[in-house]
Amino acid sequence: MLSLLRRLVQEVNAASSLAAALEIIVERVQAAIAVDVCSIYLRDDGHQVLMATRGLKPESVGEVRLDLDQGLIGLVCERAEPLNLEEASSHPRYQYFPETGEEAFHSFLGVPIIRHSEVVGVLTAQRTTSERFDEDSVSFLVTVASQLAAAIAHAEVTGGINDLLGKRTGKDLPLIGLAGSSGVAMGTAIVQYPQADLDAIPDRQVDDPKAEINALNQAVAEVRRDIQDILVRLEEQKLPMEDRALFEVYLMMLDSGGMIDKVIEYIRAGSWASGALKRAVEEHVKVFESMEDPYLSERASDVRDLGIRILSYLQSAPAKKSYYPRHTILVGEEISATMLAEVPASRLAGVISVRGSSNSHVAILARSMGIPAVMGVADLPVHRIDSQRVIVDGYQGKVFIRPSAAVRAEYKRLIQEASALSAELDTLIDEPALTPDGVRIPLYANTGLLADIAPSLKCGAEGVGLYRTEFPFIIRDRFPGEEEQFRIYRQVMLAFPGKPVVVRTLDIGGDKALSYFPIQEENPFLGWRGIRITLDHPEIFLVQMRAILRASEGIDNLNILLPMITNVAEVEAAKELLVRAVEELREEGRAVDMPRLGVMIEVPAAVYQAEALAKRVDFLSVGTNDLTQYLLAVDRNNSSVAHLFDGLHPAVLQALMQVIKAAHKHRKPVSVCGEMAGDPAAALVLLGMGVDSLSMNAASLPRVKWVIRNFTQAKAKELLGEVLTMLAAEEIRQRLNDALDAAGLGGLLRPGR
Ligand code: PEP
Ligand code: MG
Repeated sequence: MLSLLRRLVQEVNAASSLAAALEIIVERVQAAIAVDVCSIYLRDDGHQVLMATRGLKPESVGEVRLDLDQGLIGLVCERAEPLNLEEASSHPRYQYFPETGEEAFHSFLGVPIIRHSEVVGVLTAQRTTSERFDEDSVSFLVTVASQLAAAIAHAEVTGGINDLLGKRTGKDLPLIGLAGSSGVAMGTAIVQYPQADLDAIPDRQVDDPKAEINALNQAVAEVRRDIQDILVRLEEQKLPMEDRALFEVYLMMLDSGGMIDKVIEYIRAGSWASGALKRAVEEHVKVFESMEDPYLSERASDVRDLGIRILSYLQSAPAKKSYYPRHTILVGEEISATMLAEVPASRLAGVISVRGSSNSHVAILARSMGIPAVMGVADLPVHRIDSQRVIVDGYQGKVFIRPSAAVRAEYKRLIQEASALSAELDTLIDEPALTPDGVRIPLYANTGLLADIAPSLKCGAEGVGLYRTEFPFIIRDRFPGEEEQFRIYRQVMLAFPGKPVVVRTLDIGGDKALSYFPIQEENPFLGWRGIRITLDHPEIFLVQMRAILRASEGIDNLNILLPMITNVAEVEAAKELLVRAVEELREEGRAVDMPRLGVMIEVPAAVYQAEALAKRVDFLSVGTNDLTQYLLAVDRNNSSVAHLFDGLHPAVLQALMQVIKAAHKHRKPVSVCGEMAGDPAAALVLLGMGVDSLSMNAASLPRVKWVIRNFTQAKAKELLGEVLTMLAAEEIRQRLNDALDAAGLGGLLRPGR
């Protein structure tokens, strides 16, 4: 059964159209469980429509349409469970369709096809005999249906059902991925495939290893030249050195001491260059992938990308230069940072990738270039969308393929309104974030890459509320040294003279791993993360502290923030190390001051200990991304449970209230620096709670300023009182959105205005 099923799913996935896929299913299922009829009904516009059949009259396909509560099919939909009948016609819900010729069949088995808890169709089997289907047949049909839901949803999104019915219903179902880089773009999908197929390389023995090694070296040199060209292009586009460093990593991978040495070893052992390359790449990829860490698996894709590039030169077929139309939306199974960098910046409008996450180099690069990107779109039918019109909604992680005129018009409006709104918001840049009743809420920017500095300054940030220091660590192949770190931190601090800069100490682990510091854990988010690692490695922590302190010399705007604090002892230990670093530097003759010290509240334990923590530090900063994840037990990176992740959940609001109260009791300020701070509806409740400052990505800042300048704190408090009586995040969001709408700020709720 299993091999049959596997083959069936493979065939369905490889089918050229939905019609072909459905034909394959009914034919194979009919044969597999020896039934007289196998049919598929799919939901379309409030009906279940017969889409394919073996056994019923072919002319009834597309003609038999049942209301969702009609007939036995309707009953399967309603109950969302299998219906197994000995004699269909004697069931009270039986409905006869003469065009099908089904009077000849007695027994009936219907199983729902369910996707994301919704019944999208029904798979049926019928026999001329009068007996219930045995358990094996029911199980087989249920398994087939469960495997088919994704493939069917695929086809539905790409217009398969509509095409099948010869019409467009105007229904646009977006494909859901992960928001990789915010913004909205509309354009033409240009599908990129890797140029050479490593998997297709056979093993072959040679007796002239020297010639093979020469060929390899030549190919590596060509790839090196290509990457250097890309680096020059990125330099011309004025991308900061830090971001270009992604490609420096590629160059380093080509250096001796790594994968290339392995290739040479295999050539010396008798393999031809391509085969040796394939083997070395596979091994490296496996090592990275086995680490089961999102960041490290991204490195696996870098290795694969490099391997393919070398292979195309070995095969004397250098990367072909594609044609890129205006508003190119780069699409692929695995868009690499190099593929992105190859498109002229003036033509690149967006990125969609089946694999990858917001950790991927390509997402980091897209953010830094201001290009919307949606990653991890698992349902993307890559081979069917080249040259199609697509919409990328990088705010919500949505992709629309062949959007209807209505959706296009809507997004066009959103894009226009977004630029009109940002022009309007630009006028607020130099205005203070001051409520009409005179409450000042400083708005700070979150930064990580040096590329974030310019947008932060442009959007009127009053400082940096969260500088995530891990990025310079992530994009290197070893820990950056004190000098190296000093130079990066210094640039950040110099960019904001007289304004606070909150530098968070290294927060790795969880979903942020370093390729050169692998951590293998069953539950990384509950494992060795943030302060736990740096306290265990004072040599890393002290180097970073020294670099940060030195960078602040003479600027005096430094605040240090400790991530993932779960107990008081961690704060005390970190404080000791900080004092040690300050003393060391003073002994070396440097004029460094003891900076203000804060802790992140991002674990439930820290919420309950907020008072004890507040007593020991100068400020608290709430990381709502992790706090929401840990309070609600929802993995922040898991798209299957993304709908459950909401900072407006009543439990998160209660936690925030508790933290603010505890800090204020000890006269310590509280900031919120998670994504929630940049959410206009959430900013409203945070204002009501009396938060002292907010820190967010630069793109959200003008929008939040608009909220602050339009709502009195008194009104925000009133709204907070109201929403605290509510039990569901959706209800709370609706109430807050209504308030924003009523105040004429509806434009903040959607990607556009
Ligand atoms: C947070 O957890 O809310 C936060 C700001 O930190 P990060 O997103 O870097 O984990
Ligand atoms: Mg965090």
